[in-house]
This record gives sequence, C-alpha cells and structure tokens, in this order.
Amino acid sequence: MSLFKGRMRQYIPGHKELTAHKDVLEVLPGKKVFIPLYTAYSTTFELLVKEGEQVFVGTKLAVSKGKVVVPIYSSVSGTFVGEQKMMHHTLKPQTHLVIENDEKYEAIQVFQPLDYQNASREELLAFMMNAGIVGYGGAGFPTYIKYQNADKVEKLIINAVECEPYITSDFTLLPEKMDLFVTGILAMKKMAQALEVVIAVKNTYPKLIQLLETNVANIADVRVVGVPNVYPMGWERTLVYQITKKRYDRLPLEVGAIVNNVTTVIAFAHALVHGKPMVERVVTVSGDGIQNPSNVRVRIGTPVREVVEACGGYTSDEVKLIAGGPMMGKTIVKDEVVIDCVSNAITVLKPVVERPVACFRCGQCSDHCPAGLQPVRIVQASKAKDKKMMERLHALDCVECGLCTYVCPSRLDVTENVRIARRQLQIGKK
Ligand code: SF4
Ligand code: SF4
Repeated sequence: MSLFKGRMRQYIPGHKELTAHKDVLEVLPGKKVFIPLYTAYSTTFELLVKEGEQVFVGTKLAVSKGKVVVPIYSSVSGTFVGEQKMMHHTLKPQTHLVIENDEKYEAIQVFQPLDYQNASREELLAFMMNAGIVGYGGAGFPTYIKYQNADKVEKLIINAVECEPYITSDFTLLPEKMDLFVTGILAMKKMAQALEVVIAVKNTYPKLIQLLETNVANIADVRVVGVPNVYPMGWERTLVYQITKKRYDRLPLEVGAIVNNVTTVIAFAHALVHGKPMVERVVTVSGDGIQNPSNVRVRIGTPVREVVEACGGYTSDEVKLIAGGPMMGKTIVKDEVVIDCVSNAITVLKPVVERPVACFRCGQCSDHCPAGLQPVRIVQASKAKDKKMMERLHALDCVECGLCTYVCPSRLDVTENVRIARRQLQIGKK
C-alpha cells in the first residue's frame, strides 16, 4: 500500500463554535428504545432475555457469538417486547431489541467496580471485555482486543483530536469527566505496560491543553501534545505518524502504539469506578439545518427523530441528515435510525445544489488522499467493472475520509464513487 504519497492533510473550516461552549442537553427517550444488535465485528448474537421480561438499566440483553465478545446492555428500565428489523445508521437493516421504557430508569449493579491499581493486567482485560468497551470514536472495534497482545507498548496515544467539522462531543465531555479520564488512561497504561501516554489535542484548543496539562502534571510518563488543525489528523494512521514519525501496515501495534479515543477512555473508567456499562453517550447535533445546535446526552437506542425534536427541529423542510460528521458520516434518508454507542454526531445541513461537471484530470483527489490512493483511477476502473484494476489500485484501503470529494473542483462525489468500487470488490469476495 502506497501510504502518505499525498498531502494527507487539509485545513477545513470546523464550525465548532456552534456547539463547543454550550451546556450538554439531557435528552431522555420516549416510550420505546430500539437497541441495535450490531457491532462492527459481529451481527450474530445470543439473546439473554425473553419477550415480556422486565429489564433494568444495565441488564445484559445479548452477547455476540463467535470469537469476539461484545455484550449489549439495556439503556432503560421497562419491558423487553421483542425484536424488530430497522434501518441502521450503517445504511443496512439490522435487528434491534425493543424495550418499552417505564421512564423510571431503575438501574442494577451489573458488575463489581474494579480498582485498577490492585488489579492484574489479565483482570483488567477480562473486565474491559465484559463491560463491552468498544471504540466509541466511530469504528466500534472491541477495545480489549487491542490490548490482548500488547506487551511493553512504546506509546499509548489518546486521540482527543476530533478533526471532523462540527463535532465537539469529546471536547465537551473531557473537562466534565476529567477525573474519570485520568483514571482511564492510567488503567489503560497499566494494561498496555506502556512506556508513555501521549494525549493528542488540536493546537487550536489552548485552554483544553492547559487543563489537561494541569491534570497530568504530577503523573510520570504522561504528556499532552498539540497537533495541527488539519483533516484527517484524527485518523489513526495520520495521528500515529504525527506522534511517532513511523508508518505501519495493518495495526499501530506494529510500531509500538495503541490508539484510543477520549470517550472510550472515559467509558472504561466509568465501568471500573461505578461497575456500570456505557448506556448513554454525548452526541453532537449540529449544522445549519438544525434550530438549536447542541451536544446532547442520549440513551443508546433513542430514535434520532426524538433527538432532533429536542434540539428544536429542522430549519427547513428539506435537509441533508448525516450520521456522523460531514466528511466521514453517512447520509441517512430518514430520522428513524437510532443513536448507538458509536454515534458521535448527527449533522444536519441545508441541501446545496451541486452542478457537477466532468472530471478534467486535475489530480487533486490523488494529491490529497491520505491513504495514498488514486481515487479518480479507482472510479474509472469501477465504471469499467475492472475488478483487477480496482484491486491493483487498493480500492479497499480507502477509509472514506471524504477528502477527495471535498477538494474536487468538478464537484463530483468522488468518495461515494470509491465507496461503490469498494462494495463491488467486497461483494466479489463473499
Ligand atoms: S475517501 Fe478514500 S479515496 Fe477519497 S481521499 Fe479519503 S481515503 Fe482517499
Ligand atoms: S479532483 Fe475531481 S476533477 Fe480532479 S481528478 Fe479528481 S475527480 Fe477529476
């Protein structure tokens, strides 16, 4: 893979001011929540509850089958009423568990808290797995797997970059949960036997950098690093290169690094300290298509429609709704999808009428691709249904960062066309 041929970074207006300094809005769900039976690495689950059974906040509803263990917990108390196939923000129908919400939010002690200082590495690993900690920054990768083979990691990198426009959920959560954050990084440092912890924050957040520095000042081998305000600085490969000046093929561990995002660290610490899984998260709801852009605290399984209503509704009849940020997020047709554990943002934009013209081979998309790909050639191969060429051009290495569309002067949706190429290859492999 020809990594980092391109400029791999681009300044993009952040629009963070819309939400960054507002209080977090609490949004409680309505009569029903719909908890997706889905993780990025498993869609087959063993159901642990029966129809009609009473559940509580924290009841273990299901656990994934196979090698990768991911438990699914209830976010409300009430009655489990069955399964329902619904559209998911991945744009595929997925099974959801429907809970009738009794609106009492009665919680159970799911597991015992664990003092990370007295726990062994193995105990921490097992705890992280049973707590269902995944990468809450977007990928949803079960976090314990990153640590299973981690032995004397050089750098544990905490990704507080949040490089996508509009999104400020980590930025808002971090000061509020600073104690948990510090506990989380120390527990993870122990698990990784890491030589040092590097917390990466954008240079444009000097107050946050100062706050973090104050909170880790007396902790050995933990430092805060300011990184440039460019996109996609928060992408794992870009960030690892920025911090270590090393490139890897498949996993950061190849160059002695583990990367976790802020919400993941806090969720792990929350489970350790309180003995409770993550059943709610902070989501940025922003853009010029929403009346009151806000960061909202939402229970997993709450329909996006209810969250939008809590933010004052749309600014016009026609809006573009995106699950995630405008660069990497997926456009969703209806607001009936639900918030799940990896939903860090809902972006609502007024639709812009683009008048695309033919590609004139300017090469901008290739120059900017952070994965070193040639998007324009991948698209040509896709249109010619030339799978060999798509493979040769490493179409599957695209991370759907959206930069090729962003820079294209012909206003072509290059990313979507590369996505189609990826799907053509993926279908061929099944
Ligand atoms: S979306 Fe894919 S092809 Fe386009 S710039 Fe990003 S990584 Fe490259
Ligand atoms: S940036 Fe747009 S116009 Fe330029 S080569 Fe790529 S697809 Fe063609």
